[in-house]
Amino acid sequence: MLYLSDTGCVCSRDETIIGTDMALLPIAKVGNPILRHMAAKVDPRDIRTKELQKFIDDMFETMLDEPGIGLAAPQVSRSIQLVVMGCEGDFPNTVLINPKIVFYGPKQVENWEGCLSVDGLRGKVTRPSVVRVQALDRDGKDLDLEADGLFAVCIQHEMDHLIGKLFVDRMTDMSTLTQLDEFSRYWQKEETPVI
Ligand SMILES: [Zn+2]
Repeated sequence: MLYLSDTGCVCSRDETIIGTDMALLPIAKVGNPILRHMAAKVDPRDIRTKELQKFIDDMFETMLDEPGIGLAAPQVSRSIQLVVMGCEGDFPNTVLINPKIVFYGPKQVENWEGCLSVDGLRGKVTRPSVVRVQALDRDGKDLDLEADGLFAVCIQHEMDHLIGKLFVDRMTDMSTLTQLDEFSRYWQKEETPVI
């Protein structure tokens, strides 16, 4: 899960059923070994099954409920190469299955990141500003897209979850690691063009 930088309260919860069919999924937190595993590829023949389609719906529901702008399957304790993301007004709802980054832009940008699996912390991470990614979408069709700005950050953050990496592993200057209260107090107003 990648947060918007101004996200407030973060609560963990047990699985809760919404309506008749949707479910909020419990989030794995740092220290849970599943967050450190390499996620397995999804068999393309499984993508259109009712079970996987419901899982994708539940991931979106969980992401929106928190609220976040991205969620990777290992964060809901399922070690498969599947991420969902979306940010109204910035980039569309997107499902990436078995994603591969095939191009990194040469420019690096630094942004604040946070993660639902790492409660209450923010830190600055430097990443390429542009990526091109190839994946399968939720219908099992080939997807090939180039992203910049917040979308590019989100793709890289979520794909890190598929190889057992957290944003704190990507921080080069740990002195920017900040608790949420202090982030609001000292840093939130800092110019943050991407997140
Ligand atoms: Zn995350």
